[in-house]
Parts: sequence; structure tokens; C-alpha cells
Amino acid sequence: MVTTESAEISRREFLAVGGLAAAAACLAPTALFAQSDDVLVPGGLKEAATAKVTVQALRRNISVLLGAGGNIAVLTGPDGKLLVDAEIVTAREKVSAALASINADPIKQLINTHWHFDHTGGNEWLHEAGASILAQENTRNHLSKETRVEGWKHTFPAAPSGAIPSTVFKEDHTLRANGTTLILKHYSPAHTDSDISVHFVEANIFHTGDTFWNGYYPFIDYSTGGSIDGMIRATEVDLGKVTDKMIVIPGHGAVGDKSQLAFYRDLLVDTREKVATLKKQGKSLDEIVAAKPTAATDAKWGGGFRSPKDFIGDVFQGV
Ligand SMILES: [Zn+2]
Ligand SMILES: [Zn+2]
Repeated sequence: MVTTESAEISRREFLAVGGLAAAAACLAPTALFAQSDDVLVPGGLKEAATAKVTVQALRRNISVLLGAGGNIAVLTGPDGKLLVDAEIVTAREKVSAALASINADPIKQLINTHWHFDHTGGNEWLHEAGASILAQENTRNHLSKETRVEGWKHTFPAAPSGAIPSTVFKEDHTLRANGTTLILKHYSPAHTDSDISVHFVEANIFHTGDTFWNGYYPFIDYSTGGSIDGMIRATEVDLGKVTDKMIVIPGHGAVGDKSQLAFYRDLLVDTREKVATLKKQGKSLDEIVAAKPTAATDAKWGGGFRSPKDFIGDVFQGV
């Protein structure tokens, strides 16, 4: 009896371990060793594994890849492909196929707009595929050690060495590739403390990273330096640079233009004012959420990564 029982237990243990191993095979180390008591990050990893990644040609030799994670800009040419952002790690197959569908240029360079997993998840495999990685120095700092994001209730382990940017800068960096000038500029802390914009000068294309979410309420990462006031400042900086003819690539959402960026800025400012006023009156977060300060945009903007309640909570924390 005892033998049968322990054999049964062993079998169950074996099955459990087998199941884990099967799950582990589908996920990269980042996901495997992450500790989480929330569903957002694991949900993102799961979603990105099957989400479609579409290619949209923009201007000259520049395209954008739109999938479940952050938008990837792709610059092609004789110097090889240069990517701005690397998506969620589990999107590897889809991103790889999308890149191959543009042309056969090898992958040579990767720029991270900030350190978050939905923009750096592909760093390791893209590095293995031939990309050198460039980012603002805080991206390297956060990827180099265990980092907790309270807003996602998730602790990220240090990234593997191949995923760490090999070149970093503090404020500005300019480079030339494939006949294009790229101006990289660090924002003062906005969505995180590692955000940069990437301006493709000749093509008149501006990648904002996650300082701009087009059609979705943004996430604000207070754990690594973000704040609602910083987000508003970043949109002011963007509006000072973006012209009517520019194509604006947001961190998330459809490719947009200056008018959409201005709408988003007004939305941030308006929500901040309303939430701050109610908070000053002594209202609790629950009471403010119930007052629906973002009612006019909830149907369109609240259906993505952040619900109206999440967004109001992020604003509440910073006012
Ligand atoms: Zn993002
Ligand atoms: Zn982000």
C-alpha cells in the first residue's frame, strides 16, 4: 500500500514537474524566474505569444511593427536593420517573421526607448541575432538588477547578460545609419526615469516610447521614477518638437500625428486637474473613481492595458 501510494505521489510530482518544464520551454528566463502576485505581466507574456504582429510601412526605409507589446520602429538598408524597441520576449517568432517579411537585411542595431519588459523582452534574442544594444543609462541599471514594479505587482529578475545594453548615454546621442540621422534624447523622468525619444530626422518620424499612448490610458511607473507630472512635461516636450508633417510612433496604439499627441496631452492635464481637485476635497480614490472624471474617454481609451480605474489610480498617486 505504502509503495503504491508513494508511487502515485511520485507520478503526480513527475507530472507537475513535467508540466512546469513544458511551460518553461515556451518562456524565456525572464518570465520563468519572475515572481508575481499579479496577472498583468504573465498575461502580457501569454498574449504576446499568439498576438498578431503587423508591419506598416511609414516613410523612406522605415516601418513599424504593431503587436501586443511596445511598437517597434524598423530602419532598413546597407548597414543592416536598426530596431527601436524589442517587444515582449514571447513575441519572438512573430517579430522575427515580420522582420523577415520586410527584407533580408541582417539585424544589426537595437535601441531601447526604456527598460520595461514589453520594450526590452526581445533584447537577448535580437542580440544573439546580431544586434548591438543602445539605451539610456537607467535602462541598463534597471535591467542589470532585480527591479520591482509596484504598479504591476511584479518583480523582474536581472536580465541575462546578452540583454543588457552595451552602449549607454545620459542625455543625448546622435547616430547615422542607412542614410538616416537618429537623434536620441532623454526625457526628464516621465513614464520611467529611462525614457528616450528617437527622431528619424530625414524621414520626419518621431518615436516617443511610452511617454505617448495613442488611444489607450497610459501606465505610469512610479517605482522607477515615473509620475503624472513627468508624463505631462514629456508631452509638452514632444509637442515642442513635433510638426504637423511628422509621423508620431507612440509606445502603444496606432501610429499618429501631432493632433493626436495634443489630444493626449489635454487628456492627461484634464484628468490630473480633476483628480487633484477631488483629492484636495478629501475624497478617497474609490470615491474619485466613482465620480468618473474620465467618463468622456473611457469607452475609447479604457479598453487597453489600463482601465479607467487603473489610470485614475496612477494619477491619484502623483497629485
Ligand atoms: Zn510599454
Ligand atoms: Zn513602459
